[in-house]
Amino acid sequence: MAVDSIRGSLREKGVRLTRQHLDADRLFQLAKEKDPKLNRVTVYRTLKMLKNGGLVDELDLMHHSGDQHYYETRMKQEHAHVICLRCGKVEEFFGEPLQRLRKQIESHFGFQILLARTEVGGYCAHCQSLRALEMDEARQHGQLADGPAVSDAPHRARPKRGM
Ligand SMILES: [Zn+2]
Ligand SMILES: [Zn+2]
Repeated sequence: MAVDSIRGSLREKGVRLTRQHLDADRLFQLAKEKDPKLNRVTVYRTLKMLKNGGLVDELDLMHHSGDQHYYETRMKQEHAHVICLRCGKVEEFFGEPLQRLRKQIESHFGFQILLARTEVGGYCAHCQSLRALEMDEARQHGQLADGPAVSDAPHRARPKRGM
């Protein structure tokens, strides 16, 4: 019913929960394009049902852009999310080391893992080079010299001794 129709219309729209890590609002907008009568509450309720039914995972992706949560279809293979904290790009790492880590944790603690989530935050290659440029520019304008020239700093940095 509601669940199937939303999943169905998302699929028809070519929206793949899996790769895109969409938040609830975006999912709502996309589903609404397909079915204008759809309301927000229905979408939120459906997401909750999918989540409780174990069909969809809710992720916060390191809250890289605020409080929203993201959804993706649960995949058979465990994977880590690698999130750029600057541009918000999300990559997925599938790999045997994750399975190994899981086994190690299970045997170390005598623990039975039901689900595991791995999130890694940092800067993608593109953002690294942009950051390098920004740093250069800031340095040229003397902004990065010896701490920020803001007056609300609790105390000034010690003066540098002869360099
Ligand atoms: Zn980036
Ligand atoms: Zn994923």
